[in-house]
Amino acid sequence: MPIVRDAVVAPSTVDVVVVGAGLSGLVAATELRRTGADVLVVEAQNRIGGRLDAHTCADGRVLQRGGEYVTPWSTELRRLAESLGIGYEPAVPEGAMVRLSGASRVVEAMPFEQDPEAAGAYYGAYEALEKLADDVPADEPWRAERAVELDRQTLGAWLDVNVHSQPARDLIAIDFVTFGDVHEVSLLYILWSVSRAGGLEQLHDLGDRFIGGPPGIVEALADRLDAPIVVDAPVTRIEHGADGVRVSFGGRSALARAVVVAMEPGQAGRMEFVPPLPADRDRLQTRWLAGHGGKAFAIYDEPFWRREGLSGLAVMGGAFPFGLDASTDDSEDGVLLVFYCENGEAAAELARAQAEPDGVRRRVLDGLGRAFGDAARTPREFHYFDWAGDSWSRGCGTMLPPGVLTTVGHTLRPALGPIVWAGGENGTKDWMEGAVTAGQSAAQTVQGLLRSAP
Ligand SMILES: Cc1cc2nc3c(=O)[nH]c(=O)nc-3n(C[C@H](O)[C@H](O)[C@H](O)COP(=O)(O)OP(=O)(O)OC[C@H]3O[C@@H](n4cnc5c(N)ncnc54)[C@H](O)[C@@H]3O)c2cc1C
Repeated sequence: MPIVRDAVVAPSTVDVVVVGAGLSGLVAATELRRTGADVLVVEAQNRIGGRLDAHTCADGRVLQRGGEYVTPWSTELRRLAESLGIGYEPAVPEGAMVRLSGASRVVEAMPFEQDPEAAGAYYGAYEALEKLADDVPADEPWRAERAVELDRQTLGAWLDVNVHSQPARDLIAIDFVTFGDVHEVSLLYILWSVSRAGGLEQLHDLGDRFIGGPPGIVEALADRLDAPIVVDAPVTRIEHGADGVRVSFGGRSALARAVVVAMEPGQAGRMEFVPPLPADRDRLQTRWLAGHGGKAFAIYDEPFWRREGLSGLAVMGGAFPFGLDASTDDSEDGVLLVFYCENGEAAAELARAQAEPDGVRRRVLDGLGRAFGDAARTPREFHYFDWAGDSWSRGCGTMLPPGVLTTVGHTLRPALGPIVWAGGENGTKDWMEGAVTAGQSAAQTVQGLLRSAP
């Protein structure tokens, strides 16, 4: 792997600097090298991969701290993985789900199959949201005919008016807003997620998981990359002009004809741009919010819930909204994964849990115990990973508030002279697929710039 740990030995003049060695930056660098450009990748952390990262337990089991599921619409991601010899396995086992609602525990194949009133409200809302999303262009949501009206309200406000069943509202909130507050996220932003995924069914289909995990993809890309990757070198400043850029990192700088900034817009806003970026792009960066969330894993000697025909999917609500079976085929262990988030009313619950010794563990295991029985309360191991504490991502999953997309959303993708944007949020789709497509398209834009430069 061409990792350089000492910034001083990095080249001082290249064609392109790629800032960020996450999936998107590494795809951009790979594509650019393929066309013969000289590339330097600069990464703030002492590792590559960004929001793709694995934790290895004492017994060698590997847990995915970050991105894990390969959605059905991840066409370019799947193509890339196949080209690197990385395969995948189905994500969610067959079986019934468990839904905790107040004091009750419901086992069902489909949500609300024993509650016709909530079912009507739930599926009716899905139909209405899908219809609204039909009119939201996947590439430019701010151009939707009713964009301003949809971006003025939150999903929560829409649910309050249109869905007259509390259990249905609660489940829709979990379905759509894993890492945020349903009363803070723009309805237009949610509809954009639906339209980018190609529909609601696709949006909520977890699809597959890579065998060995997604970090294998970034490692394989880095291994094959014939260009230096400088790590532990946060980029602090990008000076830009008609001739190109000067990128400063680790007490030194590199000159290039173009720079690819491959990260979430909110993170890009932490660097100094000289001269300053246009006000609308700057506002996009300051208003782009990452959701606060993470993952907890409980590991058992076997996936005992499967004996009762349960899939491991548990809808629990609150700060720990849902759990999944994350066992892998290479082991007999059972693994339950619980997402947690700081969503509105649950924010105080999460803060309390994090402040108490073992508070997260107790609450997660209490939820799993209620869903799957007492055996779930005593895992062999428990781990949790909080992305809000990660300085270079500050959370996971965008949660845009009202009024961002329709005012400054148009600045998301267009390059500003030699500054070209990448990162999952810039892609034609979201998440890992977005990271790949944004990396590819940034490389194409840079090739155009290099060809047209004198
Ligand atoms: C908990 C969690 C679960 C997820 N689950 C899924 C999932 O199941 N499926 C899915 O498809 N996606 C999932 N995602 C999203 C997916 O991980 C991301 O969309 C994808 O990894 C983004 O890649 P990226 O390269 O665009 O950004 P990042 O991975 O964030 O990479 C950006 C890189 O830039 C670096 N950087 C930032 N600032 C600077 C600077 N100033 N100087 C130098 N370097 C800098 C960062 O350190 C980082 O390495 C999940 C994410 C999280 C956190």
